[in-house]
Amino acid sequence: MGDYIVRVLAQEAGVRGLACVTTGVAREATRRHNASPAATAALSHGLTAAALMGALLKTNQRVAIKVESVGPLRKLVVESDSAGNLRGYVSNPNVALAPPIGPGEIPIVIGDQGLLTVVKDLRLKDLYEGVVPLQSGKLDVDLTYYLMHSEQVPSLVEIGAPIDVNGMLRVAGGLLLQTLPGSDVNPLAELAERLDDLPQIGELFSNGETPESVLAAIFGAVDYAIVERRELQFQCACSWERTRQGLKLLGPAEIRTMLVEDEAVVDCHFCHERYVFNREALETILEELEHAQNDAAESL
Ligand SMILES: [Zn+2]
Repeated sequence: MGDYIVRVLAQEAGVRGLACVTTGVAREATRRHNASPAATAALSHGLTAAALMGALLKTNQRVAIKVESVGPLRKLVVESDSAGNLRGYVSNPNVALAPPIGPGEIPIVIGDQGLLTVVKDLRLKDLYEGVVPLQSGKLDVDLTYYLMHSEQVPSLVEIGAPIDVNGMLRVAGGLLLQTLPGSDVNPLAELAERLDDLPQIGELFSNGETPESVLAAIFGAVDYAIVERRELQFQCACSWERTRQGLKLLGPAEIRTMLVEDEAVVDCHFCHERYVFNREALETILEELEHAQNDAAESL
């Protein structure tokens, strides 16, 4: 079974629900970043949070979640677009903590003091940005707090990415319940109680439950409809050309320094793809920059 997210709507109750499995995405990220079991757990939580937030976007919009804290992980950055393309990295992929690692250990890895920042590119003139202080270092609890206090939408997030005694990620996944604008919060509270009675989401998925069956268990007799089912994948937006444009922004002096070394090697933070710029490629960049400078001087 590949990774996917399901979005449901309980129109009458005024609640939307999302549930996703992200095991494949999390494993791909772990492999690319050569992450320790503890860093894998945190990165998997982050990617799942990004998948949930990404599913709330409209077409071509993007969201980034950044956690900066005092914990050994230091920094976590994850991104999603509206099409379910996920990527992310952590500052310290070598955090050491003996497995098994469950929800209780996540604050030890992430740290409980710091900031959670959500940046959205909604295709408007300015980026939307919301920041809240970390409440617990449990990413799902902190994201719930962010949605309640920064976006002011009563919500509930639960994420699971259990690491077994051998240090392997068993599954990754999560869910998000949210009151629709203008709706009463009581139905959400009732769903939250039902969720409380269920095992942790990581346990549910480990035991063979699916996003659909988890949502069915939570919504129970509440009338709802599945409105979307979308595949999720680890997919970085980087490319040789984008990296080249990034190098150009450094300016001619920086490119001349690189030419002394005969080549420039750029590693993508998010996916560890390596882009090599040889002498010829660097000379082309330098020519383009010098032309642009001459054109600017002539137009003065
Ligand atoms: Zn990349």
